[in-house]
Amino acid sequence: MYIKKQRLLTPGPTPLLPQALHAMMGSDIHHRTEDFRKVYKSVLSGLREVMQTSHDVIVLVASGSGAMEASIQNCFSCGDEVLVLTAGKFGERWVALTKAFGLKPTVIEEPYGSSVRPDQVAAALAANPNIRGVFVQASETSTGAAHDIEGMAKVIRQHDVLFVIDAITGLGTMPLKIDEWGLDIVIGGSQKAFMIPPGLAFLSVSEKAWKRMDEAKNARFYFDLKRERKNALNGESAWTPAVSLLLAMDEALKYIRNLGMDNLVANAQLLARATRAAAAALGLELFSPTCPGSSVTAIRAPQGMDSGVIVKEFRTRFGSIIANGQGSMKGQIFRVAHLGYFDFADLFAMVAELEIILAANGHPVEFGRGVAAVQNIYADAALLKKDIKEAVAV
Ligand SMILES: *Cc1c(COP(=O)(O)O)cnc(C)c1O
Repeated sequence: MYIKKQRLLTPGPTPLLPQALHAMMGSDIHHRTEDFRKVYKSVLSGLREVMQTSHDVIVLVASGSGAMEASIQNCFSCGDEVLVLTAGKFGERWVALTKAFGLKPTVIEEPYGSSVRPDQVAAALAANPNIRGVFVQASETSTGAAHDIEGMAKVIRQHDVLFVIDAITGLGTMPLKIDEWGLDIVIGGSQKAFMIPPGLAFLSVSEKAWKRMDEAKNARFYFDLKRERKNALNGESAWTPAVSLLLAMDEALKYIRNLGMDNLVANAQLLARATRAAAAALGLELFSPTCPGSSVTAIRAPQGMDSGVIVKEFRTRFGSIIANGQGSMKGQIFRVAHLGYFDFADLFAMVAELEIILAANGHPVEFGRGVAAVQNIYADAALLKKDIKEAVAV
């Protein structure tokens, strides 16, 4: 029996930033006092800063799906025709959500592991001038694939439609130029690249989207974005907020601002690249080889092996919690996360653990091959740089 520390290495929840966790102990403040208003204002301006947008950002007490629901409730009406782009479990959530609110989605569906192309979006919008909104994931966490948001935005900008992006694992792992590209609603969640526990969702809202809310007729009450915007002007939320999470978020945003959002993205991208190199060195196939994102890398289990065995042995042998595939991908793939508070030491360990697990299950592995691939990527990026702070995100 050896000591094993639990390490949470999934693409949500992600590893927690210690100082954010500690900040949660200061939760004994009342939400209608100046103490709270100071925190809330700081969180809202911090979110605008790291999302690099001039749009309003609204925070909701919910998991990420709550903000997805709010975008539909507030900006659309029953019977509206919309376009949903899907290539995974979270794309399917958009399909289910739009239907649940009585919208009529046209669905462009690509197989798991690939992504929808901007030219498909252009064709669908040209074919149906009644479409009022387009829904997509920036990063499809279930497959590890990324969508070309910039390319889609170019097409969508030419039409009078709202572009609604589930960027819950896109934020902090890929560039998202909200103002420049004209992204109307961009949704994030606290338990992803923001390094704190689940329970807060947030979304940036463009002028165009605010205008749409005046005519949208779907019922709304708890997730009333206009009510939240009005209250936010005074530094308050409409309802009792999740004070502990907001204190954590304030700390996490300080950390991210200090690091720089671009460096947070670069960090995830470099770790993702190193993970792909390790997989190749170990003879493992990627699940989304043509459009890999940087929030999470989905790797196929070796032929004849259930990925659930790999996930289970990560936990039982090493205390490392990694993700299995979802839905029909369960048993086929395992997913290694990069978003948020992940570093090279996490990856060295994870790849070394993977090598041991493969060997223990009868798959020939030359120990160190995968780890060396990660080390080489680190060496290229940072070994010879004098100022390590500049070379790799701290
Ligand atoms: C995590 C995640 C969500 C939100 O799921 P919740 O359980 O509601 O937080 C939505 N979309 C994507 C792409 C995600 O990764």
